[in-house]
Amino acid sequence: ININPPKKHNKKGKDLKIIIVGDSGTGKTSFVNKYIHNKFAETYSPTIGTAFEYKIIKINDIIYRLQFWDIAGQDRNPEITGIFCKNTNGIILCCEVNKYQTKENTIKWKESIEKVIDIKDIPIIMIENKCDLLGKDEDEYNKDISELKNFAENNNINKCFRTSALNGYGVEESILFLVNQIVGAPEQNPEQNEVKRD
Ligand code: GDP
Ligand code: MG
Repeated sequence: ININPPKKHNKKGKDLKIIIVGDSGTGKTSFVNKYIHNKFAETYSPTIGTAFEYKIIKINDIIYRLQFWDIAGQDRNPEITGIFCKNTNGIILCCEVNKYQTKENTIKWKESIEKVIDIKDIPIIMIENKCDLLGKDEDEYNKDISELKNFAENNNINKCFRTSALNGYGVEESILFLVNQIVGAPEQNPEQNEVKRD
């Protein structure tokens, strides 16, 4: 279902466009749904076409209208269209915690975005979703976190997050981080410079 792109400037606030990509089944639609509606649906219904949702937030007295563009249908095959990426302000790469291949594939998704737009100045986060499925001890968990940091550094990603669309872990935090990177409001998140690109 293709919804017309909204107008660039809107009475309701500044539009920020965020695209979310990653393999099918990693939880992209669930993640956006959790953030926007604070809901999680167990039933699996693959998104058809491009899904579009938005949420209004306020940072430093400025109102933003966050638009989330959810790649779908073609998400078994990392091919991205220019229309999907056009004028995007931020990128979310999504993978699934227990499926290593989906993590490797986030880089393929990133590369396919780079084929159609210049991402040099566009903040990118990676989310390792479904972290509720992990039953790990603390040492192992911390080791994984440092691996995530390396992954971000090696791949020019601003920061990687563990998230769960099921219980909400990391959902708000990761999106606020991304938005702060986009609008440049460091006081909102003192940790934002933890992992730097370049
Ligand atoms: P998409 O294809 O990337 O949009 O993935 P969906 O959002 O459709 O999710 C695929 C399946 O994974 C669905 O059955 C969801 O209920 C499930 N799912 C999504 N996120 C999570 C999560 O954080 N934890 C768990 N346990 N399941 C999830
Ligand atoms: Mg989907």
